[in-house]
Amino acid sequence: MERTEKQRGFDLHTHSVFSDGTTRPSEIAADVAALGLSGFALTDHDTIDGWEEAREAAAMHGIDFLPGIEITTKFAGRSPHLLGYGISPDDEELFDALAVVRRARLTRASKMVDLIKKDFAITWEDVLGSEDARTVGRPHIADALVRAGYFIDRSAVFAELLYPGSPYYIGTLAMDTAEAIRLVREAGGVPVIAHPAANRQSAAIPLADLEALAAAGLWGIELDHPENRAEWIPELRTGSADIGLIPTGSSDFHGAGKPNRLGDFTTPETTVAAIRKMTATPR
Ligand code: AMP
Ligand code: ZN
Ligand code: FE
Ligand code: FE
Repeated sequence: MERTEKQRGFDLHTHSVFSDGTTRPSEIAADVAALGLSGFALTDHDTIDGWEEAREAAAMHGIDFLPGIEITTKFAGRSPHLLGYGISPDDEELFDALAVVRRARLTRASKMVDLIKKDFAITWEDVLGSEDARTVGRPHIADALVRAGYFIDRSAVFAELLYPGSPYYIGTLAMDTAEAIRLVREAGGVPVIAHPAANRQSAAIPLADLEALAAAGLWGIELDHPENRAEWIPELRTGSADIGLIPTGSSDFHGAGKPNRLGDFTTPETTVAAIRKMTATPR
């Protein structure tokens, strides 16, 4: 079938088995091609180890691949997630910082599992189920509890057991958002703030915070995302445009781990071309 103008565009936020998605990068590439999209970015949490598989599969399916990553950060009492596109895989400062974050995630997750083990029959080995995962988070704990038959799916475990404030919840080490933006920029990447109006928060990210982050080098804002609360978007769209931030759209696909479907929202090809011009690793 001929691609229509409407179908073209990139899904700029997806997760694979290399972090907390449930499908391989190659499956994401195949599905993006089947949808008739122009291409996609793989943005696994704290790791770029899925890039090679994604790149090869994208080439095979005749679609475009934009390399990316998602970093959990903290700023002014919030926990913004930062997408970084086209970073150099050789940047020591950024990857040293990510290694620290991944190690801290292991300690944090094992402490959470110690708490959960008191009430549910799961083990640390159950949580570390997949060989591919380079980083461990609440989704992996959730999957172990689902496999053990305690919950129907990941979302149910998050709602009942793993939400912030739950007796089983422990926070994880996060970089300051402005510092993460600096690291991404210095690694030749383009930083975009993810799901700035996520419905799990009590409010969208304040415009004052966005101004501070733009001053630190933030380039874009993921205004189109399935978890953004629609009522918060108009003000955010106007305000972020005034600050000079570029809007993007994506699905935050996690395979079976979340209801988000590939291509739920997309980013125009022209925006991706602009990103590529600025990056150390455009493909
Ligand atoms: P962590 O970084 O370990 O605290 O886990 C956060 C990750 O869990 C997010 O990046 C999402 O991928 C995932 N997540 C958050 N809330 C939910 C939910 N309600 N259902 C499924 N996955 C979720
Ligand atoms: Zn995730
Ligand atoms: Fe996120
Ligand atoms: Fe994500």
